[in-house]
Amino acid sequence: MGPVAFQAAIPQLQDLSQIDLKEPQILIMTRAKCIALIAHDQKKDDMAEFARRHQARLSGWRIVATGTTGGRVKDACPDLDVTPLKSGPLGGDQQIGALIATGEVDVLVFFVDPLTSMPHDVDVKALMRLATVYDIPMALNLATAEILMTTPVA
Ligand code: PGA
Repeated sequence: MGPVAFQAAIPQLQDLSQIDLKEPQILIMTRAKCIALIAHDQKKDDMAEFARRHQARLSGWRIVATGTTGGRVKDACPDLDVTPLKSGPLGGDQQIGALIATGEVDVLVFFVDPLTSMPHDVDVKALMRLATVYDIPMALNLATAEILMTTPVA
């Protein structure tokens, strides 16, 4: 008999006892999806509320965030798996861009403030450019983020 394809998500690993070890097995490990969360200062309340509203959906996800945004999300939802990176103006946007380039971020939710000039505007544009280059779903406002959260891709 040929190899048995077996797809397991990490939470299902306790079922490994069900596998017949005398047969060749192919075990495909699927990693948790990763969402990047960023919010400019005027949008941080919206982001905390967004995370709270979608907490159940996000609970199976790995979350990376710029420093201050990550802290706000963690305060709002202590049980979520949030990894805060550097603050945006200190390189956090670039760190998330690098994670997009290496294929580690699947979705970007970035609540931008279009009414305030930012010292790190070039970093913000670079991040949006990489999300476009790598063609990952990217929401830049709350209305789009809400739609993203109702789709299978997110
Ligand atoms: P912050 O960064 O979450 O550290 O405030 C966001 C940004 O301004 O890019």
